[in-house]
Amino acid sequence: MTHRIETSTCTACGASQKACPNEAISHKGKLFRINSSKCKDCVGDYDEPQCEDVCPSGSCTLM
Ligand code: SF4
Ligand code: SF4
Repeated sequence: MTHRIETSTCTACGASQKACPNEAISHKGKLFRINSSKCKDCVGDYDEPQCEDVCPSGSCTLM
């Protein structure tokens, strides 16, 4: 399982992209997405998924 971004609620603030230790989050304009081949759910880097922790709109969730 990896994390995904719910685009309908994402406000494109950019916080998740900055917080990701694996550079798994990219964007085209206001459309932010998580590359599932790069997302490791923060295992080995943090106790909690960083994108989920910092997202103000609760848009980063497990698939
Ligand atoms: S769970 Fe961690 S590795 Fe996966 S996208 Fe979020 S911050 Fe990046
Ligand atoms: S932190 Fe949340 S609202 Fe901000 S860009 Fe990431 S997914 Fe979107």
